[in-house]
Amino acid sequence: MPSARTPGIANRLVCPTCGNDEDFFELANDVIQTSHYIQNSDGSFTYDSDTYQVNGEVQLFCGACQEDLSYYHQRFKEMIF
Ligand SMILES: [Zn+2]
Repeated sequence: MPSARTPGIANRLVCPTCGNDEDFFELANDVIQTSHYIQNSDGSFTYDSDTYQVNGEVQLFCGACQEDLSYYHQRFKEMIF
């Protein structure tokens, strides 16, 4: 179906400042990062995993002009698949 713009896609998030609709980033404040390591029998360590705890707010920004788009953040989170 070429160039079929589904009506439901009309709610794409678009930066009101620069029109960017592709590139966005989240900024998490007050993040505690915990890195887990497993010690091997020879005393070396192997990285296992990271866990993150976000204590501050998480903001959403336009990736093109760095405009603060946090008021779209709830919608943004609902559209992450
Ligand atoms: Zn922008």
